[in-house]
Amino acid sequence: MDMGLPNMELREEICEIGRRLYARGFAAGNDGNISYRLSDDVVLCTPTLICKGFMQPDDLCTVDLQGRQLSGPRPRTSEIFLHLEVYKGDPAVKSVLHCHPPHAVAFAVAHEEIPTGILPEVEVFLGAVPRAEYETPGNDRFAATIRPFIGRANTVVLSNHGTVSWGPTVERAFWNTEILDAYCRILILAKLIGRVERLPEAKVNELLDLKKKFGESEDARRRLGMDLILNPDFGRG
Ligand SMILES: [Zn+2]
Repeated sequence: MDMGLPNMELREEICEIGRRLYARGFAAGNDGNISYRLSDDVVLCTPTLICKGFMQPDDLCTVDLQGRQLSGPRPRTSEIFLHLEVYKGDPAVKSVLHCHPPHAVAFAVAHEEIPTGILPEVEVFLGAVPRAEYETPGNDRFAATIRPFIGRANTVVLSNHGTVSWGPTVERAFWNTEILDAYCRILILAKLIGRVERLPEAKVNELLDLKKKFGESEDARRRLGMDLILNPDFGRG
């Protein structure tokens, strides 16, 4: 029993989300990483080279916002800079999660924009999911690829690589990824059946009005004057 270990509840939560991530098939081998912002300059994160399905609370590390390791028995994840980019760009974000969920990554590999205007939950909880340019994982240009989307999305697809999602809690960051992967699976299945129909724009607007009721911020498509229906050609013919 690690009586002296600080932030035990958060450590347990990160281990629990790690188990779900692995059980869902979102992170093969040692893939994926999870972090939580403890304070202005301290982030709790998963270590490198560990299976996310079998972590113990004392495996986790802490780093500062420059990525320098402060504590933990193993080296921090090499993808920490991706997480730090989000924390530095949006003070409201408390947790970031990166992994490789297969159905969402299929879109990332095909460079197919995630379509919108199809399923109510996706409109309300995710909105538009942009795709970041490919860059070699772990180098300093990699983290910068998501910079354009911080403050205007909560989930991003990384070209030929994976996904990143964030939110006010570890569970919400995971939930965003889970919603996206289930959505992408449905889109692929519907395309196999032969077609994907859109909701009328008026109905999409009704869903975006609902966002406030669920405590979400104004949809970025409305705020930035973007089209509500993205990738309208997906699943047509
Ligand atoms: Zn990765």
